[in-house]
Amino acid sequence: MKVFKFGGASVKDADGLRNVAAILKMYPGEQLVVVVSAMGKTTNALEKIIESAEYNEAARLCSELENYHTNIAKECIAGEKGVEIVLTIKELIAEVLNLVKNYPHDNQDERYDQIAAYGEKLSLQIVLSYLSSTGIDVVWQDALNNICTDDSFKNANVNFDQTESRVRRNYSASFKQAQVVITEGFIARTKNGKTTTLGREGSDYTAAIMAYSLNAASVTIWKDVPGVLNADPKWFDNTVKIDHLSYQDALELSYYGATVIHPKTIKPLQNRNITLLVKSFLNPGEPGTQIDNKFSQLSTPCFIFKINQALLSISPKDFSFIVEANLSRIFKELAVCKVKVNVMQNSALNFSICMDDDPGKLSALIARLGDDFRVLYNKNLELITIRYYDQPTIDRVTVGKKVLMEHKSRYTVQLVVQPEENGKIPTRK
Ligand code: ASP
Ligand code: MG
Repeated sequence: MKVFKFGGASVKDADGLRNVAAILKMYPGEQLVVVVSAMGKTTNALEKIIESAEYNEAARLCSELENYHTNIAKECIAGEKGVEIVLTIKELIAEVLNLVKNYPHDNQDERYDQIAAYGEKLSLQIVLSYLSSTGIDVVWQDALNNICTDDSFKNANVNFDQTESRVRRNYSASFKQAQVVITEGFIARTKNGKTTTLGREGSDYTAAIMAYSLNAASVTIWKDVPGVLNADPKWFDNTVKIDHLSYQDALELSYYGATVIHPKTIKPLQNRNITLLVKSFLNPGEPGTQIDNKFSQLSTPCFIFKINQALLSISPKDFSFIVEANLSRIFKELAVCKVKVNVMQNSALNFSICMDDDPGKLSALIARLGDDFRVLYNKNLELITIRYYDQPTIDRVTVGKKVLMEHKSRYTVQLVVQPEENGKIPTRK
């Protein structure tokens, strides 16, 4: 059995849907789990709906979303199925508007998840209807009935034991009925029946959870790039595709911000030794990138570039050393404020961290530390991470930049720098 994940870009229009069907038909007779994301930029559009202050504005955005989905459905689903799906879309959009109007505002993250989940719900119904109209033998398994989480809304934690037993039971029943089982990415449910989400771009993680639970042979993430590249073409010139990556490298790269794979995806796969493939949905015959447990040092340096970083320098006001007591206090406050540390460094009197500049988290952290620590910070910085670095590579990416912090380990260097005016960073001369 294989697990396939089709992201938003692969189902953004009718051609995308036709392409998904063509890819599935390349695997006749094989049991497939298909995980779909919301179409195109639907989750961003839902976020706008969630944030709209005026009901009328939300209603207007909902009707745009309805048109977008209806047009795709009409373009590729004909006859009775076509009529049915248009009604289903209408009903789902009406549910969104009802939630916008009536869901309590006392827990914003909870409210967010109830509404943001509709991107995947809409996408699922359309893709399911389309695939079955093309003769693909497919049934739906509702992610909400399978993936169990706690109530950390917007970034829920999966209960793997419960999830695994439900998935095994439900999917073995489904595979008795059909060759392909389709499910929603990104969304899950608490034991009290509230919808949760797994974090933005979390459908990759859903695919890994399914593969873990079913002990699948592999997971394939179908992307609009040929595989994992050594740098994001948005920021770097002359990128190269990586043919093979170890779980460890893939985890390090995604943790530091390589957006090609969601960072949570690797752990469940590593735990069950399941191969991850990142392949192009435009050239499905190409091998893409294979990620597995074989360790191979890469011959090309990999670059990850993150903008909008803040560098904090935290020092005890009473001039005490940065040792156990102070460190544990700082880490406690970081955890309370849900700050993800991108790099850290310490000296006798100073603890420095680089974090994403989330103004809410930054001010909460400063407020919690402020009585006992002096906190200084710089904003508008960039974090460059290079895995498999060498000195010429470092020199090349830091031309014209002021390096505020440098942290080296055996394979990885991280540089917190003041940004250049504009332009791409050359990865090669
Ligand atoms: N639709 C969700 C998002 O855009 C999940 C995903 O695409 O993986 O964040
Ligand atoms: Mg997406």
